[in-house]
Amino acid sequence: FDRPIRRALISVYDKTGLLPFARALAERGVVLISTGGSSKALADAGLAVTDVASVTGFPEMLDGRVKTLHPAIHGGILARRDLTAHRDALAKHDISEIDLVVCNLYPFEATVASGASWEDCIEKIDIGGPSLIRGAAKNHDFVTVVTDPADYETVLADLAANGGATTLKTRRKLAGMAYARTSAYDAAIAAWMAEERGETFPETLSIAGKRKQLLRYGENPHQEAAFYAIAKDTRPGVATATQLQGKELSYNNLNDTDAAFEAVAEFAEPAVAIIKHANPCGVALGTDLLDAYKKALACDPVSAFGGIIAVNRALDAATAEAVAALFAEVVIAPAVDDEAREILARKTQLRLLATGGMPDPAAGGMTFRSLSGGFLMQNRDAGRVSESSLQVVTKRAPTAAEMADLLFAFRVAKHVKSNAIVYAKGGATVGIGAGQMSRVDSSRIAAWKAAEAGVAAAGGDKGAKSPAIGSVVASDAFFPFADGLLAAAEAGATAVIQPGGSKRDAEVIAAADEKGLAMVFTGLRHFRH
Ligand code: 5GP
Repeated sequence: FDRPIRRALISVYDKTGLLPFARALAERGVVLISTGGSSKALADAGLAVTDVASVTGFPEMLDGRVKTLHPAIHGGILARRDLTAHRDALAKHDISEIDLVVCNLYPFEATVASGASWEDCIEKIDIGGPSLIRGAAKNHDFVTVVTDPADYETVLADLAANGGATTLKTRRKLAGMAYARTSAYDAAIAAWMAEERGETFPETLSIAGKRKQLLRYGENPHQEAAFYAIAKDTRPGVATATQLQGKELSYNNLNDTDAAFEAVAEFAEPAVAIIKHANPCGVALGTDLLDAYKKALACDPVSAFGGIIAVNRALDAATAEAVAALFAEVVIAPAVDDEAREILARKTQLRLLATGGMPDPAAGGMTFRSLSGGFLMQNRDAGRVSESSLQVVTKRAPTAAEMADLLFAFRVAKHVKSNAIVYAKGGATVGIGAGQMSRVDSSRIAAWKAAEAGVAAAGGDKGAKSPAIGSVVASDAFFPFADGLLAAAEAGATAVIQPGGSKRDAEVIAAADEKGLAMVFTGLRHFRH
């Protein structure tokens, strides 16, 4: 079926790369047929071109809604060249075969993103284009379809190597890409229509994802995996990042790096988060990144080994030097200074990612989680508390310093797997208890981790003072009993932030009062399972 291409239909909205491609086709003797704007672009460049209207015998009409929708076009695309009946039908109706369709669609997605009116968006729903693309892709035994200017080169190379024909292998690949494009296009239209109806969760859902990377393996070596970016979601983050250096990112790297970057995005001040297994083992604010990094590392230097480091400012040389001294898997930053890049280039294995910006922590968006046979979808946890939204429930109100730390600790707790308990002091976590099945265990573990870090900081002195002494504590959900709070008091916390709302709130408040703790309720929970 690999016959030389003789007639091509060109109808492209995005005219990138069109002229050199069309010129190369023309030089091969390919007849070019084209629609209004594309035709004009070709003719302006001095290429011989046949207008679609002269092929169909109809003018382009209805403001371009009907241009190529005609048997003279679709018959030429869809006829099987190996069936006498099909060839006879073409001959009977004086239809010529079309061997190549070059088409990209009206920019529906970009029009929606620009905030255009309903009417403008409707007009940007391409009808003829997808029909051309789907027809050519269906008949790929004989017809080549190109939907992405990035593939013009591939097609030309194929023609050069095969006497003016494409190979079936190329046509199959291009056909698959063509259907991926039209299905993504229709998915975008369906999503927009659902949004316009005010439905966040439409009855049926198609999500268009673009494969960003084939991964060496999944969470474990016996699992296969790939990383997809959702075209619609352009929040700066792992999916938009450029890898500047280092080994290939793994499935677990990507998951942990996302957790790290989302955590630092919470803060306006210079902030650093160090993550292991999607949980922070240190988050801190600082006067600058280096200060924040040192404080974050001090929280749990043992766990930080082999961790993932996220920062919320352009990575500077001083911080890069400090980071280079640790064994880290990944560093992610909105940008990386030239000097910092040079410093980290020494660590050839270290993966360095630049996202181009920080995401808005309060922005909307969706999160997904798979389960057997389906997936759960919810709004991102964009919930945030501020001082004015807190309710002081104890006799003693927090001091200003305690209040700042309470807000910080609660914001970090949002990024810790439940049950989450976070001790913080001076804008830095000092002990984190994550992912335990009982809150009191998380509370004890966090206190124990803090004490361990104190001992390590004192060069192994077992009598060292725990950094949890004089700290504040955050709990991602309410304390169901007083025991978790008492464990925190025992560890030396002086103030508590938690959602409240337990049946036994009165008991918990009484215990806090008895220990002289200040406690605030947020009325907002940050479960992260
Ligand atoms: P041009 O700039 O050449 O006038 O238009 C190119 C665009 O028209 C392409 O994006 C192509 O998908 C689209 N197109 C081609 N045929 C038709 C048709 O019959 N109806 C509509 N609505 N669009 C078409």
